[in-house]
Amino acid sequence: MALRPPPSRRPARFLALATVSALALAACSSGGSAGSNSAAGSNYPTGTITMVVPFSAGGPTDTVARLVAEPMSKTLGQQIIVQNVEGAGGTLGAGEVAKAKNDGYKILMHHIGMSTAPALYSNLAFKPLESFQTIGLVTEVPMTIISKKDLAPANFKELVEYVKANKEKVTYANAGIGSASQLCGLLIEKALGVDLTEVPYKGTGPAMTDLVGGQVDFMCDQTTNTTAQIKPGKVKAYAVTTATRVKSLPDIPTTTEEGMPDLKVGVWHGLYAPAGTSEAVVKKLTDALAAALKDPKVIEKMADLGTAPEAADQINPAAHTAKLKAQLDLWTPVIKAAGVKAA
Ligand code: ASP
Repeated sequence: MALRPPPSRRPARFLALATVSALALAACSSGGSAGSNSAAGSNYPTGTITMVVPFSAGGPTDTVARLVAEPMSKTLGQQIIVQNVEGAGGTLGAGEVAKAKNDGYKILMHHIGMSTAPALYSNLAFKPLESFQTIGLVTEVPMTIISKKDLAPANFKELVEYVKANKEKVTYANAGIGSASQLCGLLIEKALGVDLTEVPYKGTGPAMTDLVGGQVDFMCDQTTNTTAQIKPGKVKAYAVTTATRVKSLPDIPTTTEEGMPDLKVGVWHGLYAPAGTSEAVVKKLTDALAAALKDPKVIEKMADLGTAPEAADQINPAAHTAKLKAQLDLWTPVIKAAGVKAA
């Protein structure tokens, strides 16, 4: 794996400003945290809740977080602010929530990266199974392998040949070591037997801006980010990483159809609180999440974006913890075998 800095700094600057404003907003409205002791009791929540997204604003994790934050906030009767704490493949934001007060006022929306980070980072500031209280699973989002619109290959087989033949110059955008897009890149490297030149961003929101602008060649990212660019033809789509085709993108073949069944990954998302959060608070958050995922508007929007809410029996701490454990067991050996490590 070779790393190259992103060609465009403009989106990063914009997002840094966006993050500062989100932080300022959170600081101004953090009245809820002040009454933290009452959070352990039945009157939670009494103030604003911050939902941390460990990637850039405008990206797929951010999209999922904002989709559920609005109905959750209605159920809970308090505002939920989405705060983007980007960097280090999602591990900075996760680390921030791990060390936050366990009063239910700072929670985390994270994805599959929670199960890949321990194999990639030797000095991780959290332990997925110990530092967090799981709240419930949210959605499992298919990924798409896409490129800038004028990349030569017309289909997946041609893309494979192109990447193999041009491996010195082809660039692969991702959201940093520990992100879903980086994991998908690892699977692509394995399937193709190539070493990709990766261009890491703080999220695939800004990576997509550069892909549409033609500054990077290709990437693999969730349909929650790519659908809006695939449909108007702003990027080329070659394959989806699921066993069956995605309903909203019926013309895109699966990697299995293309003869690469091992290049399969679904980006599961879960909601977390810091470890030690009281049962009463967790139950309120779980119930609000479950209600949000039954909201017809959320279901419809998710369907447009190629995904769906988790089944009702998965939206609870036990199912979420079981998934996290299983995914840690699945990905740790794959990553170790690939020999990838964060700097
Ligand atoms: N899709 C990104 C990833 O590769 C994360 C994001 O920007 O939401 O993990």
